[in-house]
Amino acid sequence: MDYLASLNPPQREAVERTEGPVMIIAGAGSGKTRVLTYRIAHLIHARKVDPFQILSLTFTNKAASEMKQRIEKLIGLDARNTWMGTFHSVFAKILRVEGQKLGYPSNFTIYDNDDSKSLIRSIVREMKLDDKVYKANTVLSRISGAKNRLISWETYLNDPYITADDEAAMKPKVGEIYKNYQKRLFRSGAMDFDDLLFNTNVLFRDHPDVLNKYQQRFRYVMVDEFQDTNLSQYLITKKLAAVHQNICVVGDDAQSIYAFRGADIQNILNYEKDYPDLFIVKLEQNYRSTKNIVETANSIIAKNKSQLQKNVWTQNDKGDLIELMKASSDNEEGRMVATTIFEEKNNKKLRNSDFAILYRTNSQSRSMEEALRKLGISYRIVGGLSFYQRREIKDLMGYFRYVVNQEDEEAFKRVINYPKRGIGASSVEKMMVAAYEHDIALWEVISNSSSFLSGRAANAVGDFCTMIRSFKIEAERKDAFEAATNIAKQSGLLRELYEDKTIEGLNRYENVQELLNAIKEYVDNPENEDKSLGAFLQEIALLTDEDQNKDSQDTVTLMTIHASKGLEFKYVFVVGMEEDLFPSQMMMQSREDLEEERRLFYVASTRAMEKLYLSYALTRYRYGRLLNCEPSRFLEEIDPAFVKVNKKISSALSSSFRDTESSQGFVGLKKPATRNTTAKVHTPSPDFKPSNTHNLTEGMKVEHPKFGFGLVKAIETEGVNRKAHIHFEHFGDKTLLLSFAKLRIV
Ligand code: ATP
Ligand code: MG
Repeated sequence: MDYLASLNPPQREAVERTEGPVMIIAGAGSGKTRVLTYRIAHLIHARKVDPFQILSLTFTNKAASEMKQRIEKLIGLDARNTWMGTFHSVFAKILRVEGQKLGYPSNFTIYDNDDSKSLIRSIVREMKLDDKVYKANTVLSRISGAKNRLISWETYLNDPYITADDEAAMKPKVGEIYKNYQKRLFRSGAMDFDDLLFNTNVLFRDHPDVLNKYQQRFRYVMVDEFQDTNLSQYLITKKLAAVHQNICVVGDDAQSIYAFRGADIQNILNYEKDYPDLFIVKLEQNYRSTKNIVETANSIIAKNKSQLQKNVWTQNDKGDLIELMKASSDNEEGRMVATTIFEEKNNKKLRNSDFAILYRTNSQSRSMEEALRKLGISYRIVGGLSFYQRREIKDLMGYFRYVVNQEDEEAFKRVINYPKRGIGASSVEKMMVAAYEHDIALWEVISNSSSFLSGRAANAVGDFCTMIRSFKIEAERKDAFEAATNIAKQSGLLRELYEDKTIEGLNRYENVQELLNAIKEYVDNPENEDKSLGAFLQEIALLTDEDQNKDSQDTVTLMTIHASKGLEFKYVFVVGMEEDLFPSQMMMQSREDLEEERRLFYVASTRAMEKLYLSYALTRYRYGRLLNCEPSRFLEEIDPAFVKVNKKISSALSSSFRDTESSQGFVGLKKPATRNTTAKVHTPSPDFKPSNTHNLTEGMKVEHPKFGFGLVKAIETEGVNRKAHIHFEHFGDKTLLLSFAKLRIV
């Protein structure tokens, strides 16, 4: 096998030096991730290391699965058995097995940000504190900051100034909240995201036998994007590698962009102190981008004082100059970007997926989305309000969570009276207080509702309890899909959504169906051994924002710069290059902050392979007001030799947008076929009446009130459920449950 031949000499050295500590410090696009991938392949193939003994930690789960696929291509199926994933997903798995040693149930729930904030709000209320001073967001980020530095609530309470800043003085009760928050999480059998790492540290500290077991298991440890690890993550890797010392970390100090979340660049700078035998590899040849892009990026990062010296260069062509676009408003900026994509795509025969639009904050996607939609260009947003953050999805997931873990307080609050079953807020409050005051499990209170509540409320809670019990029995006996479908129906949630006939209601109903589809897919996937509802929940809880996208469609990618780390696209637009937006006003307390913003700009620019566009607007709506904007200082910092100003956007083209509201033709542009995100909601025929679908069979043509016309491809019967697989002209393939779908046989 000749995989080593496709590496340059320092890359090859990094791959072949498998024993002892290795640090690869290298510029963007120089093949760091590639080296890690090949190194794993090499360990398994040439050094005959058991794949189970290799642990690799990546920035997203998606990055891990891509890496696995590549390794599989290099050496075959053995690749599947390596341990690979984000810190959170890998150690959540380990805590499932070992968490009982810390007093957690093995089916512990993972709280997301919303759950955590809701819990903090309850605590602030109960402590009778001012919720304007103790805002959930701020309190949570302080607690998170403490956990990432392994400061427990006990330590925090003893020394509130441990964080050594002004905020500590202004919010003297944070320590107290932190304590209550942890106690409540523990009672709920739940961990938040930071706990997954914090508790792993506690586990390794207090249970040397467990630590030893994993030290033996993971003979080789590798970490990608090492510049963004926080102390908590850093110590985990250090402890794991303490025996064999076969640790390989890969990073670029110039791309450290998570200091605000506790990432500590000192982890790189001090690494030699931790490992005196450290072997350092520098990679300087960039394979990703054109000369113009590489040199532009170099000129950007050169302005930062604190950095390791690197000389990134490339043998690639010079390529196009960086193009700067100036727009009069944010909407015009969107139009310019969309038009440019449209033109470049046609002129150069590119695909949508060759383009990415990167921005500093999620809210900037709006003007981009509007413009792309008007030109019929399919796109997807990575991050933002993702599927699993939608209310109806969280509601149903709330049921799943509660069925799996009856102490999950946040799930309980979500489902106890939704759909409405006559259990008012005061009854809920009474039960929670009862559990707290008697120091008994919430489930015990609920199971004995008549002792705590009276009359109707007690009965309603009794019925709820019976229902949850039956779900629980099902969830234990059946696979996730069967259990979930039953819960969706029997809880009344599906019916509640079905009866809401507004467009939004239909959408929500569709989303729930989509969730059930996802569960089916999960159950059908042979790679998932554990097909229980609990296992599915864990998988979802660990999805990072960056993981949530569908690769199968050809779409332009929109995302924050933070989410774009490690990725590459032929054409990249960095939009909103304005003072106070980028660099962000909120992050400009010090020179260090400015340098982090500049690194962010470096990350953004180095995502581009062939062409980089930078744009800014002269006015922009922010915080509900129209603001005048100034071009970003970063634009002035770029060496002008690499930049040209775009004058090409013809006014005819931009003005054509104005009459597209009615989706009429475009001046000079042929409107491309619409799909998915761009497809219009179908208007049902005037005589639309759902048919009895009892006799529906393959090959029949049907009309759906929202998806329009389609062809039945297959009918499937599963238990009491009959489902139709239908191909809709404008919406592609859908699977609909016939007991709910409104279909007219045409
Ligand atoms: P980032 O800092 O953005 O994470 P990276 O250093 O991890 O970048 P990779 O993503 O591994 O870089 O590589 C960048 C691109 O260069 C990829 O498309 C990769 O396949 C290609 N590449 C890296 N090394 C070589 C090589 N020796 N020969 C050919 N292509 C290479
Ligand atoms: Mg990489």
